[in-house]
Amino acid sequence: MDVPIIFEKSVPGRRGIQLPESDVPMPDLHAVLPEDYIRTTPTRLPQVSEFDVVRHYTFLSTLNYGLDTGFYPLGSCSMKYNPKVNESVANLPGFQTVHPLQPVATVQGTLELLHRLEEGLAEISGMDRVTLQPAAGAHGELTGILMIKRYLEARGETRTTILVPDSAHGTNPATAAMAGFEVREVPSNARGGVDVDALRGLVGSSTAGLMLTNPNTLGLFEEDILEIADIVHAAGGLLYYDGANANAILGRVRPGDMGFDVVHLNLHKTFSTPHGGGGPGSGPVGVKKALIPYLPEPSIVWRNNEWQLSDESPDTIGKVRSYYGNVGILVRAYAYLRSHGAEGLLAVSDTAVLNANYLLQQLRDRYETPFKRRVKHEFVLSATRQKHRGVRALDIAKRLIDYGFYPPTVYFPLVIEEALMVEPTETESKETLDRFADAMRRIDQEVDETPDVLHTAPHETVVGRLDEAMAARKPNLTYQPDAGITQGGRSS
Ligand SMILES: *Cc1c(COP(=O)(O)O)cnc(C)c1O
Repeated sequence: MDVPIIFEKSVPGRRGIQLPESDVPMPDLHAVLPEDYIRTTPTRLPQVSEFDVVRHYTFLSTLNYGLDTGFYPLGSCSMKYNPKVNESVANLPGFQTVHPLQPVATVQGTLELLHRLEEGLAEISGMDRVTLQPAAGAHGELTGILMIKRYLEARGETRTTILVPDSAHGTNPATAAMAGFEVREVPSNARGGVDVDALRGLVGSSTAGLMLTNPNTLGLFEEDILEIADIVHAAGGLLYYDGANANAILGRVRPGDMGFDVVHLNLHKTFSTPHGGGGPGSGPVGVKKALIPYLPEPSIVWRNNEWQLSDESPDTIGKVRSYYGNVGILVRAYAYLRSHGAEGLLAVSDTAVLNANYLLQQLRDRYETPFKRRVKHEFVLSATRQKHRGVRALDIAKRLIDYGFYPPTVYFPLVIEEALMVEPTETESKETLDRFADAMRRIDQEVDETPDVLHTAPHETVVGRLDEAMAARKPNLTYQPDAGITQGGRSS
């Protein structure tokens, strides 16, 4: 299918809207604008009718694959269904039309909601105080690690190393490095958890902290977490919890009770805000009492009988985000919390774990599972059996698109060869999981019967297999009207 870009539909003189003749006198542009800002040639925009535009973009939207169109088992991303009631609540005029520069007296309801959300997230994570400012998980990590750094500095300690397990999400070592720490990798043991003896050998007087995901990216709960916490604390370091995917633990166990000192949560994963495609996110950070002075500002306080924004803490790490974070997402997360309630959140974690184990069980006979353990919210398959027969994890992922599914995460975590990382989430039905398992089994059969179909998949999409390395290294994203529009320019 050949899909033209909107510029190719341009017809000279065609217009989408017609405006009446202006009755405002035109000023002399050279008198009111700097010379640099005055165009010498007209803007080169597509000349199309309103109908052309509507049809063009409506058609393109039908080519999108999203949660509202199908199953999206992208491991570590918690692509679960986002209840539409969250959208309705976030679109209430009182939330939608507020401006961050309004006097606080006129946004008391929003501030109270934010305060209550902070309290709810603190309770869920077992922390003493939460900031809602960070705009993503990775941003929460940076905020948390900078607080740890400031805390240690205030105690007159120079600690230069952050420990990160080899199964960690890539943002963990990146965050530690960005905050100025040296990163040291902690190996995994044969059960997929932290190698505790290796950890013992790695901690010391230079250890600022350990960043840990639990359940980890293999979907496995860290059985030795209490011992791990003791080892790091005894060495004088702090524990950072990567809580991006908290749907396995909601209401069951709290990072604060496991010994963690700082936590981030991804509202756009666990708390059901639509995400992906670069939209806004939110990565609130919770801390234990000792770190409260270092939280970013402003913070929401109840003072003189009203909610206020305070920026008077002498030890704060400062601002990490303009105003008070991505408030629209915070409203959605609050709606999600309140509409579920405590019982509902327990049902979320029960179902997330049940779904992952059910699906894993369906696939065990055909795909290698590196660890013979029950999982939490996700699991990792290894396509080594398929690789020996000439087909790789990438081929399987691409072929799933033909079967109508978004592919799992591939080649991550790095500790598993030919990894396919599947996160079904709690919002999928048994029928959907069965259909997915069926597609995975059929693909395994195709490995023997029609391997070429796999090597060249997908076949049912507008664009086939892309050269992803070329797309990343030499992207061609610009429209060059003078060069004319060529097939080549567009397809790359
Ligand atoms: C998604 C994720 C992150 C990063 O979150 P962003 O919002 O994408 O920055 C960090 N850790 C884990 C385990 C994740 O799954």
